[in-house]
Amino acid sequence: MDIKYLNLKKITESYREEILEAVTEVVDSGWFLQGEANRRFESHYADYCGMSYCVGCANGLDALTITLRSLIESGEMEKGDEVIVPANTYIATILAITENHLKAVLVEPRKDTFQIDDRKIEAAITERTRAIMLVNLYGKNAFTPKVGKICLEHKLRLIVDNAQGHGLSLNYPDKLFPLPVVCHSFYPGKNLGALGDGGAITTNDKSLACIFRTLANYGSSRKYHFDYCGRNSRLDELQAAILDVKLHHVNNENSYRHAIALRYIREIANPALTLPSETYWLNNVFHIFPILTKNRDSLQQYLTQKGIQTMIHYPIPPHLQKCYASSPLIVKPTKGLPVTEQIHNQELSLPCNSSMTYDEVSYIISVLNEWESL
Ligand SMILES: *Cc1c(COP(=O)(O)O)cnc(C)c1O
Repeated sequence: MDIKYLNLKKITESYREEILEAVTEVVDSGWFLQGEANRRFESHYADYCGMSYCVGCANGLDALTITLRSLIESGEMEKGDEVIVPANTYIATILAITENHLKAVLVEPRKDTFQIDDRKIEAAITERTRAIMLVNLYGKNAFTPKVGKICLEHKLRLIVDNAQGHGLSLNYPDKLFPLPVVCHSFYPGKNLGALGDGGAITTNDKSLACIFRTLANYGSSRKYHFDYCGRNSRLDELQAAILDVKLHHVNNENSYRHAIALRYIREIANPALTLPSETYWLNNVFHIFPILTKNRDSLQQYLTQKGIQTMIHYPIPPHLQKCYASSPLIVKPTKGLPVTEQIHNQELSLPCNSSMTYDEVSYIISVLNEWESL
């Protein structure tokens, strides 16, 4: 057996004709940025997310960075303010905060959901807290009624890093104010991936959506007039056209992931492996299927020998990265981050996507059930 973690060649092949048709249309149009393909995709993706506005940009990191920058430009935040964020996220979430000279206040996740522990958020709130940045990590919706209640009580902006959650329901309570902002990445390996980089911001906040669009286009809303010192972060027409094709298939891709995850949950029975809990099961698009085990590295080696490629999300948490050694912009709880560190030491991601056959999934399950942890 030779099972890749994610066989993008095979997945892309199944949409080859449709993609080539969309690409040809853009090539023939002679218009490559900020045109019809962007408008079409933005409108379809806003509908898909159930939100009023969608602004395309160059990648997921930019979506997050531009969101925070817009809140600074609009006067809602200033340098040195604090953003609450789960400690076990991918580094991009944290980079967007520190790049804006804001402080990333790290909060532990729950071991049973891998999402921010909402019981630990209030203790992290100070006078300078302006936002909670949730991350729909591994494809699991991180929003809870308690998070909504905290945002409302403390007037915090809810920002959601949905880079791993395409297809999740993004219906936040109507009374949430300020209105939530959701950031998306279309990196090729995501549930909705481009054939290159891409990103988007969705929200119901009209004036903020205007600032996003302006900032992503050099700070200009009218040609050669610059309201902000912006940046160049646009989604190309080619990627927008390809994404519009792939958007039709994302629900189908997600149900494939769901079916495989269901088999893993039902059929993997090895006491040395901790599978995601029942709670984890709800509101999940299974971008990543995580298991935990004490001898993670030896399990990964064993699986490699059996022809099964796995990944670790992620081997080193942001607060232990060299780039943040002694950074004044990273705020850790006084008790440290033991849950985060345990997840990073024990997590292993199994292949879980539409490029896999039924027999490959069966093989992975039997190989895992035969594993003897030392
Ligand atoms: C992929 C990812 C990003 C960044 O997206 P890019 O498009 O690669 O910049 C941000 N946050 C999370 C959680 C991600 O998984």
